[in-house]
Amino acid sequence: MSAHSRAAWTHKATRETEGGFIQPEFVSDNERMRIVIIGGGIGGLSSALALRRAGFEPEVFEQAPALLDVGAAIAVWPNAMRVLARLGVGEAVSEKSGQIKQARWMAWDGRVLNSFALPDEDAPAVALHRADLQGVLRASLPPESIHLGKHFDSFTSTPASVSASFADGTVVEGDALIAADGLHSRVRAQLLGDGEPVYRGYTVWRGIASIKHPALPPLTATEVYGDGQRFGIGPVGMNRTGWWATANEPENVPESASEHQEKLLRLFAGWHAPVNELIRATPSANILRNAAYDRPPAARWDVEAVTLLGDAAHPMTPNLGQGGCMAIEDAAILARCFEKYGHVSRALRSYEAHRRARTATVSRYSLRYGAVGQWQTSRALRLRSALLSTIPASVGRRLLRLVFDYDAYSINL
Ligand SMILES: Cc1cc2nc3c(=O)[nH]c(=O)nc-3n(C[C@H](O)[C@H](O)[C@H](O)COP(=O)(O)OP(=O)(O)OC[C@H]3O[C@@H](n4cnc5c(N)ncnc54)[C@H](O)[C@@H]3O)c2cc1C
Repeated sequence: MSAHSRAAWTHKATRETEGGFIQPEFVSDNERMRIVIIGGGIGGLSSALALRRAGFEPEVFEQAPALLDVGAAIAVWPNAMRVLARLGVGEAVSEKSGQIKQARWMAWDGRVLNSFALPDEDAPAVALHRADLQGVLRASLPPESIHLGKHFDSFTSTPASVSASFADGTVVEGDALIAADGLHSRVRAQLLGDGEPVYRGYTVWRGIASIKHPALPPLTATEVYGDGQRFGIGPVGMNRTGWWATANEPENVPESASEHQEKLLRLFAGWHAPVNELIRATPSANILRNAAYDRPPAARWDVEAVTLLGDAAHPMTPNLGQGGCMAIEDAAILARCFEKYGHVSRALRSYEAHRRARTATVSRYSLRYGAVGQWQTSRALRLRSALLSTIPASVGRRLLRLVFDYDAYSINL
């Protein structure tokens, strides 16, 4: 940290630690800064860890009464694994994961349209149970820095301070508020008031089957294409296979948890064998159902001492498996900006400026890739099969590199 920013911090900290959480004599300047994080998902926990590694002592406020082991598989691509390695948790994440080294596109009847090796990167591509990822992040944070059962209600802010109110009547004061409260962010609603995310026309189901199907090659992420439907398959470690399925349908079609498996078996009847076997091997209650949502990029997402991060800032459709990876990248850039500027407004402005174009680009790629994946007319299907079959491996790798090569710890701030 520069002498200038340190001085600015010391001044601020001396003023704001009166009666605050930390005694000034025993702590560094960074530790005196009170950073409040709303949301203990991937973005909130990664931010807490990245800020802690940069010498800050953030506190996380999560609405759930316990950080539950819910969720399906999540792919963590090299752009995010690079950050996790830097934060010291890369190996712990890899140990709980399945590695992905190959991508494969197939037609619904089992024809292989194309396959190619992923680009060589200095970090692996993996997939694991979301609970395992969150567990690793959580285990690397002091338990007392995570406050559960805290449902954020509203905030007030000035350029140098925030006050967050929770549903249980408590109020937390801080120097900065990082909103990592997800797709339906309450902080965003107050900060930007820009309405609900946009539904993109298809539902996504996800599950983890405790089988390794013999027809599935190892270390391979497969995407199977049909008529307005797709099925994705990948290894998630510990002899398990993660899968996801999509189908075009109107928003908010009612469907209870007990209906998921039966509906998917109906939708994917007649598809290449592993598809149905994976669905059958996943109990209906363990299948998650979400809709594909995103938002057009916001012109700005920080105001005074408050900013957004992860899905709260830039939700994207799940087609590239990059939403969580973007939240992890956000965390690294945010922590670097706090470390570099040591001043709330400058740090938040710089963080947002560095993240806006990157996240907008990845969100746009994801939206387009998904739109092509959900094509339904027979002419469109023929065109898509022809395109997927003819893309040279070198082009496939070049496209992936556009996303994978980003190194949040080495770009210039
Ligand atoms: C079908 C599907 C598949 C996906 N696959 C992948 C993938 O393979 N790879 C990948 O990188 N991404 C994937 N994603 C995207 C990824 O899940 C999200 O981008 C990621 O979870 C965003 O993290 P986050 O921390 O911003 O939000 P979340 O993970 O949603 O966490 C938000 C947290 O905030 C809490 N919260 C919400 N409101 C409040 C409140 N008022 N007060 C306090 N706490 C609150 C919530 O309880 C939650 O814990 C997928 C998404 C979907 C839908």
